Amino acid sequence: MDSSTPGSPRPPQEQTSELEIMIALTQKENNYYRRLQDKYKIVVEQCRTCWKIGKHPTQKCVHDKPLCPRCGSDESHAREACFVMCFRCGEIGSEAFHESCPRRRSEIVKLALMRKYNFDMKTARDVARGKLTLAEAR
Ligand SMILES: [Zn+2]
Ligand SMILES: [Zn+2]
Ligand SMILES: [Zn+2]
Repeated sequence: MDSSTPGSPRPPQEQTSELEIMIALTQKENNYYRRLQDKYKIVVEQCRTCWKIGKHPTQKCVHDKPLCPRCGSDESHAREACFVMCFRCGEIGSEAFHESCPRRRSEIVKLALMRKYNFDMKTARDVARGKLTLAEAR
């Protein structure tokens, strides 16, 4: 028998703060992409020098010195001195190798589409970026 009374005030522990909800949502999203990676055996490549996601078309980075994962500058400085922001997507509080980067997620979706539908790289990328619908691509 259901013991809850409709219309009764919520207990205080159910009043989750907005911040906690946001953290939970982020976790859930990361888990979703992790499952996608596991399912299609996806390994996301990221350049250790310029932090570009995916393979360089030329296989070689154009930068000689590593870019700061916060500001993207190639001038040598302590990254701790920089404002914490992913210069690739602009997310505050993250560095260029963060798991929730939209560029990383788009790469995961692209590779999953290539595995599942045998799309070529360009088609898969257009679908992953929303330029093409799945129906149009198939
Ligand atoms: Zn690079
Ligand atoms: Zn920097
Ligand atoms: Zn990012």
